[in-house]
Amino acid sequence: MPKKTPIPELKHLDHILVSEAAIKRRIASLSEEINRDYAGTHLTVIAVVNGAVVLVADLLRKLRVQVRLDCVRASSYHTGTQAAGKPVVIDSLKLDITGQHVLLVDDILDTGNTLSAVKTLLLAKQAATVKTCVLLDKKARRVVPFEAEYVGFEIPNEFVVGYGLDFNERYRNLPCIGVLKPKYYAGLL
Ligand code: 5GP
Ligand code: MG
Repeated sequence: MPKKTPIPELKHLDHILVSEAAIKRRIASLSEEINRDYAGTHLTVIAVVNGAVVLVADLLRKLRVQVRLDCVRASSYHTGTQAAGKPVVIDSLKLDITGQHVLLVDDILDTGNTLSAVKTLLLAKQAATVKTCVLLDKKARRVVPFEAEYVGFEIPNEFVVGYGLDFNERYRNLPCIGVLKPKYYAGLL
């Protein structure tokens, strides 16, 4: 086996909150739950991109029900690690979800603004049911009431990167979830 090239940006992490192995195990058990809950039905998986791309790719390959995949894009104006104002949801859905069971997938549930806006959009399009799956849940940060049916890990109120989550569009490729050293958040390097 050729030796794996290390990811240099792993060195930017101050600490790891969720390891690659723990993510893998948790996605396996979450997908079993989803397979049980949706057994015998058809599922439309809708990912909130870009953050959800890594999770949805791993999750999708564990699903044993008939699935279709589509994406929406949501963005808030960011200053550093803080989202400012209400998110803008860009309705880029290609699939008709009228009467369909939808599983909404995102990287993290934070204030709840994004997922509640996306869920409102999906229900307005007459989805039969909308459930939500997130890798991470920062309960302490909730501004609007929102709970996800499938949660990978509850985490403390820290700004995290990796496994799809970015800081200034970097670090999405890290295989684990971690917190950057302060100097990297400060944009010093
Ligand atoms: P909301 O506040 O609307 O629940 O979350 C909106 C978005 O903010 C998430 O989808 C994610 O893109 C981003 N976000 C929230 N918390 C974090 C975090 O700790 N790290 C990163 N990289 N993004 C976050
Ligand atoms: Mg996001």
